[in-house]
Amino acid sequence: MDFSWSVDQETLYRRVIDETRATLQPRVARRGYDRWFEREEWRLCGEFGLLGLSVPGHYGGLGLDRLTTARLMEAFGVACEDMGLVFAAGAHLFACVMPILEYGSDALKERMLPKLCSGAWIGANAITEAGAGSDVFSLEARAVREGETYVLDGTKTFVTNGPVADVIVVYATVNPAHGFLGITAFAVERETAGVITELPFDKMGLASAPSGVVRLEACRVPATHRLGAEGQGGMVFNQSMQWERLGLFAGFVGMMERQLDVVVGHAAQRRQFRKRIGKYQAVSHRIADMKLRLESARLLLYRGCWLLDQGQGGALDASLAKLAVSEASVRSSLDAIKIFGGAGYMTAAGIERGLRDAVAGTIASGTSEMQRDVIAAGLGL
Ligand SMILES: Cc1cc2nc3c(=O)[nH]c(=O)nc-3n(C[C@H](O)[C@H](O)[C@H](O)COP(=O)(O)OP(=O)(O)OC[C@H]3O[C@@H](n4cnc5c(N)ncnc54)[C@H](O)[C@@H]3O)c2cc1C
Repeated sequence: MDFSWSVDQETLYRRVIDETRATLQPRVARRGYDRWFEREEWRLCGEFGLLGLSVPGHYGGLGLDRLTTARLMEAFGVACEDMGLVFAAGAHLFACVMPILEYGSDALKERMLPKLCSGAWIGANAITEAGAGSDVFSLEARAVREGETYVLDGTKTFVTNGPVADVIVVYATVNPAHGFLGITAFAVERETAGVITELPFDKMGLASAPSGVVRLEACRVPATHRLGAEGQGGMVFNQSMQWERLGLFAGFVGMMERQLDVVVGHAAQRRQFRKRIGKYQAVSHRIADMKLRLESARLLLYRGCWLLDQGQGGALDASLAKLAVSEASVRSSLDAIKIFGGAGYMTAAGIERGLRDAVAGTIASGTSEMQRDVIAAGLGL
């Protein structure tokens, strides 16, 4: 078993950290974490390669395997203090760009991927409906074929990037009686008549990633924009979740690493009762637990990526990693607040923001309960 990184992987990792810290992070800090990300920031993400990490060079991506892709998303989470932007980039790449790459026609890929990788376009994916959340394949949006087009009708909710997206991967059913096997995926351009995006929701965290309702009203989508065959949409979605549960959550591993650095620094300098608080075992053990959670979640995530890169593993491994990372980031974000005391609870220090962002990770991409269901199903239960 070899845990070392290649020189190329190290170079790319350092490059993402350095470029993000030098160019992107100062812009983000000036903009403020409660405002939506800006197109110029998105363009910079594209310039750094972050919006097409796992996309072949032919389409403007970096052509990386899952493990290296995750390592660079981790670097992004270390260097970019705006988890909303990291989350938006992850949702774009793993749940919109990758399904188009893996299931789109050659012409569709030529049309969409270069713009999605460069940052000219923003991508989103829309499967959730008011009545279909965890039970996602009970969705009701309809797709009816009429000649060379499909007519889409339905209402999607909680769509990350929805209010600003240029292309949205939409899931609808061609035949509700067929359940999972009726679901079909489409890459729908925002400019298509009948695509209506509503104002974003106010959220607990990830404030810079706008999230909202997307309505499809008699929306005619060319049949050439279908991803995979009719009835393959459930599989397209499941594959995209294997990407997202590893790749996007690598960003939260980066966040935990940044958080740990800040907490160690604070515990090493803050004095109470004439001693540095890090010298109190109650504090240092809390930090040791943060380190333990970070490293165990990180190992599960790397292992999941490595297995999938080898053509082994699958849904269970991606869910194990997602569950470990998301739950660890909530618990460690709470620990960070406690170690900072009153300052941790005040918004100025930016510590409490970690907790608000981390909670989203335990719901989006399937709740923690759903990840446990996937793991149990993988064990034959
Ligand atoms: C920040 C964020 C970003 C998101 N981005 C997107 C996006 O880009 N595109 C998109 O389509 N959707 C997106 N979603 C939606 C997300 O996927 C759903 O919110 C999630 O799947 C849960 O569905 P729900 O909200 O309807 O909750 P529900 O399904 O109603 O679940 C409520 C509670 O019941 C539990 N529960 C439900 N069924 C079971 C069961 N069988 N066994 C045990 N417990 C159960 C759940 O675990 C949860 O605790 C996003 C959500 C968030 C919070």
